[in-house]
Amino acid sequence: MPHRIVVLGAGYAGAFCAGYLARQLHSDDFEITVVNAEPDFVERLRLHQLAAGRDLPHRPLAEVFAGTGIRLRIARVTGIDVERRDVTVADAAGTDRLAYDTLLYALGSTAAEHGVAGVAAHAFHVATRPSALRLRSRLDELGADGRVLVVGGNLTAIEAATEIAESRPGLRVELVTGGELGGWLGPKARRHLLRAFDRFGITIHEHTTIERVEEAAAVAADGTVFASDATVWTAGFAVHPIAAASGLEVVAGGQIRVDRQMRSVSHPDVYVAGDSAFVIGDNGRPLPMSCASAGFTGMQATSAIIGDRTGRQVETTALSYVGNHIGLGRKDGIFQLVDGDAGAKSGALCGRPAAWVKAAIVATSGWAIGHPTFGKRSHRYRAAATGVPSAVLVAG
Ligand SMILES: Cc1cc2nc3c(=O)[nH]c(=O)nc-3n(C[C@H](O)[C@H](O)[C@H](O)COP(=O)(O)OP(=O)(O)OC[C@H]3O[C@@H](n4cnc5c(N)ncnc54)[C@H](O)[C@@H]3O)c2cc1C
Repeated sequence: MPHRIVVLGAGYAGAFCAGYLARQLHSDDFEITVVNAEPDFVERLRLHQLAAGRDLPHRPLAEVFAGTGIRLRIARVTGIDVERRDVTVADAAGTDRLAYDTLLYALGSTAAEHGVAGVAAHAFHVATRPSALRLRSRLDELGADGRVLVVGGNLTAIEAATEIAESRPGLRVELVTGGELGGWLGPKARRHLLRAFDRFGITIHEHTTIERVEEAAAVAADGTVFASDATVWTAGFAVHPIAAASGLEVVAGGQIRVDRQMRSVSHPDVYVAGDSAFVIGDNGRPLPMSCASAGFTGMQATSAIIGDRTGRQVETTALSYVGNHIGLGRKDGIFQLVDGDAGAKSGALCGRPAAWVKAAIVATSGWAIGHPTFGKRSHRYRAAATGVPSAVLVAG
């Protein structure tokens, strides 16, 4: 019986890992199944663009994985039994259990509500495709007349506010943040950011914490009421509660605590990649949730799975954090590099060249997902001991 690898999630981390494993592992010895809630690969990096009105390429996962040998199950993961080693999934036909020998957890993240009243009921967000499409419909309803309030002061807030302001110039866009807008950026990048907001006519309210969201307003802790026809909640990401509920060891925010090779510290037959993982990067700090981190953690997790299951030495790959690309609408952007302490370097690439770099990165990551085995089917690595029960392989 082949060793069953189940990959949960086909976002940047899961889709990459599944493709890489399918390319490296011998299909006689390994069976790879990917479970994803949506039938398409969703380019989360571009969901603010989708919300603002741009159309994204359609990438059905069935086509992405065609010819790779990967089994695809479109279903929602609702639970994991890490002792019995199975995953509960639900789809229109009901619920089912999928047994695994090795699990790769890559369910990503969604918008963090921070317990603020009214966010779930009244706010919009761009962390998932359904929510981005809901925001798009709302913006369509508003037409060229309405107020959009973006809550948050970091990457997603910046990208969402500028994209909406550029695509829908009739709307009045305001941004409210508890701290400073892009306060962590270096001086050059921050100056560029503030100029861009000025150009787009986006009003900025800093040092203002939203305490409650209502149907047509957001209310700050000091009582200020911001009238809003669409409140866009971009105050960070939170991971799904499935990991914590399953008994995997998690940190306070619910991310799974892993070792340097991306194995769960409590259940080493569970590997984690992407936003769901809490891992200390090469700079000694937790890796931020990002597409770039998904690439690094995915590379490390697949190296560990291949090493552990085929008896090879596990390669230690980089877990780097080098900086952030920020889109400011279609033609403008910022590429802020960080130093070894994750602090912004004083210089930055700004303007149209930064927008080109960002567009190239987004296109490259989309292309890489669409070509999971890069056209090669080497299948070179055999299981360490074919026919040995998986429990023995895991224990060994
Ligand atoms: C608008 C926006 C802009 C961003 N811009 C950048 C950027 O410029 N640079 C950058 O580095 N990062 C950016 N990010 C962050 C980046 O998108 C995430 O860090 C990245 O997607 C994480 O990859 P992942 O594979 O862990 O999760 P995801 O890409 O979220 O993939 C998770 C997958 O799991 C599936 N899933 C979730 N729950 C379930 C379930 N219960 N059952 C089955 N399937 C499930 C989802 O459908 C999805 O396919 C941005 C995010 C957003 C929202």
